[in-house]
Amino acid sequence: MQSRRDVLKKLGAASTAGLAGTAALSGSAAAGMPGVDWKPADSSNYTSADRGASEINWIIIHTVQGSASGAVSWFQNPDADVSAHFTTAEDGYLYQSLSEVNIGWHAGNGSYNDTSVGIENGGYVSEPYPDAQYQKTADLVAYLCEQYNIPKERATWVPENAWDNTTGGIIGHDQVPGSTHTDPGDNWDWNHFIDLVNSY
Ligand SMILES: [Zn+2]
Repeated sequence: MQSRRDVLKKLGAASTAGLAGTAALSGSAAAGMPGVDWKPADSSNYTSADRGASEINWIIIHTVQGSASGAVSWFQNPDADVSAHFTTAEDGYLYQSLSEVNIGWHAGNGSYNDTSVGIENGGYVSEPYPDAQYQKTADLVAYLCEQYNIPKERATWVPENAWDNTTGGIIGHDQVPGSTHTDPGDNWDWNHFIDLVNSY
């Protein structure tokens, strides 16, 4: 696993350095992978897997209820027993904690963990989300939707067993069956966010 992490870390760094050039040269409408600050979660906080597009059907949007950097540090703590793949800070700074091929522990529902990519947003459900945070999370979600064939829309059919809806979509943690969490909450402007995701 270490070698894969190293490779991904290098790719993330290269992507950060070359982002503007890559976008200018691409010439297609495809969303590129945003540059990430790679902060590997402790391996005891997620399930190692080898997922691809047929297993990744959902994007789950969360709010940290604290800082982005604090969440990322917590995922590195062996006591946490929790992890999300990505965390976006209020200023748009983006962290990655585990590869999408692996199963994060963030949904509070096993089948949704198994079939999703989890994205945390730094901050609190009681506060507005800044534009830079919307934009970076949307950039990331656009890329993930294209990479894993996920519809760029908020899903309304959210069955008890995530595998029953093989189309999937983008949902809030508060939509996950059985979840007691309220994030991202009423301050998350879904129409604005989905518009941004579809701006590619
Ligand atoms: Zn959550």
